[in-house]
Amino acid sequence: MTNSPTSGLRCLVTGGAGFIGSHLAERLLDEGNEVIVIDNFATGKPNDLAHLADNPKFSIQQADIADHEMIRAAFEGIDHVYHLAAMADIVPSIENPMIYHRANVDGTISVLEAARAAAVKRFIYVASSSCYGIPDVYPTPENTPAHPMYPYALTKYIGEQYALHWHQTYGLPVVSLRFFNIFGPRHRTSGTYGAVFGVFLAQKLAGQPFTVVGDGTQTRDFTFVSDIVDAIVLTAASDIVGEVMNVGSDDTYAINRLTELLGGEVIYIPKRPGEPDCTFADISKIKRLLGWTPQVSLEDGVRIMLDNIDYWREAPVWTPDTIKDATATWFKHLDSEQT
Ligand code: UDP
Repeated sequence: MTNSPTSGLRCLVTGGAGFIGSHLAERLLDEGNEVIVIDNFATGKPNDLAHLADNPKFSIQQADIADHEMIRAAFEGIDHVYHLAAMADIVPSIENPMIYHRANVDGTISVLEAARAAAVKRFIYVASSSCYGIPDVYPTPENTPAHPMYPYALTKYIGEQYALHWHQTYGLPVVSLRFFNIFGPRHRTSGTYGAVFGVFLAQKLAGQPFTVVGDGTQTRDFTFVSDIVDAIVLTAASDIVGEVMNVGSDDTYAINRLTELLGGEVIYIPKRPGEPDCTFADISKIKRLLGWTPQVSLEDGVRIMLDNIDYWREAPVWTPDTIKDATATWFKHLDSEQT
């Protein structure tokens, strides 16, 4: 399998103003590609791309991916599509499932159709490990049955099925990468209560205790964003098509280990229904097909996060009370769902 990085191509990144998308856009430009970002700035931040604005090979179109007429023209002459645009987070997906369907399912079909019309050479779909729900097998391989527990997980999974179907039916050169718990600089800070790193770093800056869910022994497959970007770029440079591959750290780490590395007081809050006690990717497939392995340990990654902690200065500081309010819908709808 050839693993040479992509270069000299026209690349389109949906969701390129988001956390992973902005890192990917940077890398693709560094490797000598032209990069066109489509983002509606619903959660992505124009500021995260400000440092690229002067690059003549970089452009942004503000548009909603589900608005097919708006985005279609941007795909003309594109070699590679990286489809990262999506609505994330659990609670708002339970409260507004139609918005999630529009962004993650209708939006994906719209992007697939635009990519098909442009006869692109590669289409990378960014999928979520949340499709596994609470799996029986750890580390979890790609052929584990899907069991999405909330609309976000369901819509990302349906989007993946559409992408694979566009490969099967139209020969679109699709690969789907299932990401686990990604962290790194520019990890989303504002908006709804979510991803643990942003929550803890803002709490650390404010001198507040870390709100540890349950007893903190639950573990997550924390993967550093530069490893994720390596996996995306290697996948695009390969000739693999029609496959789903997990991307993870090859390990799983307790939340208590994370708070120990971050350093600070801890306060415990109730465990949430539907949350797995462990996420842990089986990454033997991507290792075998691409020779990809993660390079950044949790310890090194946390050090980089702490060096960049000022980024979270404007982030909301969550407390046990505000978290209780923010997760009320979660408890209400998922409590009886335990399987
Ligand atoms: N978590 C925590 N305190 C928080 C938010 C999250 O202890 O205030 C824990 C949560 O229980 C989970 C892990 O951090 O075990 C990762 O949570 P996140 O929401 O980032 O990802 P997910 O649960 O979707 O894997």
